[in-house]
Amino acid sequence: MAIATVNPTTGETLKTFEPLDEHEVEERIALAATEFATYRATDVKQRAAWMQSAASLLESEQEQVARLMTTEMGKTLVSARSEVAKCVKGMRYYAEHAEEFLADEPADGPAVGARRAYARYQPLGPVLAVMPWNFPLWQAIRFAAPALMAGNVGLLKHASNVPQTALYLGELFARAGFPDGCFQTLLIGSGQVEAVLRDHRVVAATLTGSEPAGRSVASIAGSEVKRTVLELGGSDPYVVMPSADLDAAVATAVTARVQNNGQSCIAAKRFIVHTDVYDDFTARFVARMEALRVGDPQDESTDVGPLATEQGRDDLEMLVADAVGRGAHVLCGGFIPDRPGWFYQPTVITDITPEMRIFMEEVFGPAASLYRVADIDEALALANVTDFGLGSNAWTTDEIEQERFVADLEAGAVFINGMVTSSPELPFGGVKNSGYGRELSAHGIREFCNIKTVWIG
Ligand code: NAP
Repeated sequence: MAIATVNPTTGETLKTFEPLDEHEVEERIALAATEFATYRATDVKQRAAWMQSAASLLESEQEQVARLMTTEMGKTLVSARSEVAKCVKGMRYYAEHAEEFLADEPADGPAVGARRAYARYQPLGPVLAVMPWNFPLWQAIRFAAPALMAGNVGLLKHASNVPQTALYLGELFARAGFPDGCFQTLLIGSGQVEAVLRDHRVVAATLTGSEPAGRSVASIAGSEVKRTVLELGGSDPYVVMPSADLDAAVATAVTARVQNNGQSCIAAKRFIVHTDVYDDFTARFVARMEALRVGDPQDESTDVGPLATEQGRDDLEMLVADAVGRGAHVLCGGFIPDRPGWFYQPTVITDITPEMRIFMEEVFGPAASLYRVADIDEALALANVTDFGLGSNAWTTDEIEQERFVADLEAGAVFINGMVTSSPELPFGGVKNSGYGRELSAHGIREFCNIKTVWIG
């Protein structure tokens, strides 16, 4: 994939970039390693001051950055602005809490024959972050803020279709006062990742993206005995039971599916509805999906913009066509609107059976799969049939059912009577093929720490 800004609303290539050559990559890794030797010893209060400056800079540049993201990958301007605000919040969160999260953790010294024993959290070194385009700022910040606050240095390999956002991020931390080399953007293609990962100075990696990319990076890192965090795809279930507040469940279902033009790992993708409320839910859900305004993402009244890439739009079209060809029914949408750019009409599809690709594959676009179930056992079985296990949503006011969902949904998160979201305060990550490790909260900052056991006799 060429490293380029291609506007998905028009299909126009706006700017192309040459990938870094071997020599330039070497220079950046060397700088990261040299910088780590001194940066690791900086006071956490100093790092917090730099992080606060970076947050304030980003806040003051919100409009410019939001427009850049909309141009590069097509998210609506309204959602791009909230993404920037979320990043500012996340950076401040780690600036304010890192000292507490990284404080020495006392253990029972006398029980192990010590006068004193504790765990100390120390940074590991240069960490490679391989990031996706769908939340081009937030995905990178939720790595960068905790990693830098812990005393690591970062090397960002961003998705090839968001190079200008990637370059902005590299400059942001430098402008905020972080020493040279603390956070660098590497404009490289995915084929250049292996060499960086095998470099002895790069000690760990985090990847957010598709399952194949995760498998590749994890197997290379594994062969080098380097730690990885993987945040991969999801096919989140959204279960609606008879006791649910149906108005809220329907309205939230639409947002949960079409947020970010349907391209979110934690978007609700499979709607599993109890037969007692199925007809009512379906009628209202379809009406709302049909009413969504599809259009220019820079226009503030647009609900759904284009998909980020032509390939992404074509993949979605093929998934729907495969299902329809095998007997599924489209209740709304199911076509490419007649306009330039990579748009796909918001779609609801039903009568899905296991031999259809859409039954097991992640749907990365504004298309909802709808299923009718007879009871909670059937709902849970269908919810858990997927190989993914990122988020899960369940709507019920019955406390016994709530506990069943909490206990039995196979996912890294369960949200009851709400939709899955990420926030700095909550751990984020998956099980099964959605990956491993956790981002955000205290768990996220400790992923790239050496948890050193200290025993003092
Ligand atoms: P992708 O193709 O896997 O790309 C993600 C990143 O990985 C890009 O920087 C890409 O570089 C790089 N990459 C791709 N193949 C690679 C390989 N073999 N070795 C090393 N790097 C490689 O994913 P995408 O299609 O852009 O993003 C959508 C996927 O990300 C979905 O499955 C979505 O669910 C997942 N996602 C997960 C989370 C989460 O937190 N769990 C969040 C957001 C998205 P190039 O751009 O240069 O190819």
